[in-house]
Amino acid sequence: MARTRLVAGNWKMHGSRELNRALLDRLLQEIPGIKGVECAVCVPFPYLGQVAERLAGTAIVWGAQNVSEHAQGAYTGEVSAAMLAEFGCRYVIVGHSERRQLYAESDALVAAKFAAAQRAGLVPILCVGETLAERDAGRTRQVVERQLAAAVQRGSFSGAVLAYEPVWAIGTGRNATPQQAQEVHGFLRGKVLPETRIVYGGSVKPQNAAAMFAMPDVDGGLIGGASLVAQDFAAIVRAAGTQKVTT
Ligand code: PEP
Repeated sequence: MARTRLVAGNWKMHGSRELNRALLDRLLQEIPGIKGVECAVCVPFPYLGQVAERLAGTAIVWGAQNVSEHAQGAYTGEVSAAMLAEFGCRYVIVGHSERRQLYAESDALVAAKFAAAQRAGLVPILCVGETLAERDAGRTRQVVERQLAAAVQRGSFSGAVLAYEPVWAIGTGRNATPQQAQEVHGFLRGKVLPETRIVYGGSVKPQNAAAMFAMPDVDGGLIGGASLVAQDFAAIVRAAGTQKVTT
């Protein structure tokens, strides 16, 4: 079963209209026709219109970083999955550790967001991952299994993307070794569908991307910091495009 690799940028709360224009222009120059890998950027809500306009008709797709669990109604400040679909989003990140930690998103809430995204035809990128304390306590498998199970209970994993993001590796410059990532991805592989892409996130840079993507169950990356530098993000996309993933 061949799985097309995915490299998705998570811009987090960064950008401006001017910076976005420069970043996207450079990215399109660097990777004009991407082969063998799907490339996405997940951007702050206000920039979805700008990104949709700039990337329409290109090989780069786009998405958001959060979504409401509700379809519509009196939920001030929230954005529904249908609204994201209207802006041409293909992907939406759910359960990022920053949202779990800083905004107290529970497994149940993340699962509800996951289901809402699927109902609107979006592809949720479900983030799972352990903290350093959990890893040190030998609880990595238990944590990621619990986070995944909550989402799977709400529906099928079909068409969704799973992102393994060890919390201790996000934005820290300390990435998991390819072997550490493979160990968890291999475990998760048995819990999802054969065609499910499992991407790795946590301080992926041009220097470590190829080794990470060479692991049999690492089907691409979710990229934070490096996605804000066009040359770095492009290099990571290229690293993912060089090998074909098969099981
Ligand atoms: C992320 O925010 O999902 C992430 C992986 O960040 P970074 O690449 O900066 O560690």
